[in-house]
Amino acid sequence: MSQILKDSGWTAVSAPERADVLVINTCGFIASAKQESIEAILRLAEYKQPSGRARRLVVTGCLSQRYADEINRSLPEVDAVLGTADYGQIAGLLARLDAGCADWIKPGAPGSLDHLNITRAVSTPANYAYIKIAEGCSNHCAYCAIPGIRGPFRSRPFEDIIAEARRLTASGHGELILIAQDTGRYGLDRYGIRRLPELARAICRIPELRLLRILYTYSDGVSDDLIEAMAGEDKIAHYLDMPIQHGSDAVLARMNRHDRVKDIRAVVARLRRAIPDIVLRTTVMVGFPGETEQAFNELLKLLDELSFDRLGCFVYSPEEGTAAYTMRPRVHHQTARRRQRQVMQLQQKIAARASAGRIGQVVEVVLESVEDRGIFYIGRSYGEAPDVDPVIYVAASDGDIRLGQVCRVRLVDADAYEMTGVTVV
Ligand code: SF4
Repeated sequence: MSQILKDSGWTAVSAPERADVLVINTCGFIASAKQESIEAILRLAEYKQPSGRARRLVVTGCLSQRYADEINRSLPEVDAVLGTADYGQIAGLLARLDAGCADWIKPGAPGSLDHLNITRAVSTPANYAYIKIAEGCSNHCAYCAIPGIRGPFRSRPFEDIIAEARRLTASGHGELILIAQDTGRYGLDRYGIRRLPELARAICRIPELRLLRILYTYSDGVSDDLIEAMAGEDKIAHYLDMPIQHGSDAVLARMNRHDRVKDIRAVVARLRRAIPDIVLRTTVMVGFPGETEQAFNELLKLLDELSFDRLGCFVYSPEEGTAAYTMRPRVHHQTARRRQRQVMQLQQKIAARASAGRIGQVVEVVLESVEDRGIFYIGRSYGEAPDVDPVIYVAASDGDIRLGQVCRVRLVDADAYEMTGVTVV
């Protein structure tokens, strides 16, 4: 949308008080995300007051895809909505609004992938960029609203992804991060086979690429071929984000997950055997309907056993239109929050242990920001994905260091959420 608007003569401004039109891209897959989105809409609507400059407020993304009618009924401040399949219509919509036409685009069914193919404005810092390799999801986990919002899993054509990877690396984005709702499934719908390993190898052939990171892989997509590619290709980060969701077979079955604890154990063991320095990230959910204290303890036990280096823990959110919405018994919210705290307390110990195990390692770190007037630079190695993982503080007073530069760093200290290192030559 950003690039389409730029091509149509609009200019992005960084402060809402300077905007003529406010476009809010929303999230809407769980209650807390919906709440945050609504608060953002109401906050920005303030700029539409008679004294404000903004004339129009447009809401796009998952919240508007899911709740267009409700937004229309209950948020009169909003002039128009666009769904997740309608991003390409943003310029036409703004032109009509600008001409004074009242407009309300009913979000279409998620289908086309065209919006992924335009040359896009990259919103991440210069050194890395995300590439979406597929849209939607067909896994139908019982708690998840995403298949309903984003439609079935649709892989982008192989060549389109390679072309985008070439464009991004040519403009300086040395680290590419492959994302989809389930990256391991890439290719299955379009080509009849899973092609993530082949895709990753092909992207590694691009000379300007420095690092390729793979996020969000369901365990059933972690094939021997993928592990071989990760172990054998120098440019693929020894890092994997593989959400497991739970550690009890009974809960996994109710969640409609297609793996079980023995499968999860086996995948983690294969990954660690083939790639000893791999950094593993996962996500789990507590408070799913029917999660007994015993099932929760099984989750804690599995997390302790598998010791993921990084972990995110969500509290179950009942979502209309999902299979779990009517499941009973529901877990009391306070119990779910207590379980979330227990998971995070356990994880803090595991993460501290895992980070301590990396002390002495020499890694390439990309320096992304600076702190304390150049005494500390802040960066990431292969083991840290942007935004979600700890950072590495690099002690360096060398005046020649530039942001975006990659340095060899020896890790000298660590706790659960931060590591410290010094540059080495
Ligand atoms: S794999 Fe992820 S996106 Fe797909 S249904 Fe399950 S939780 Fe939702």
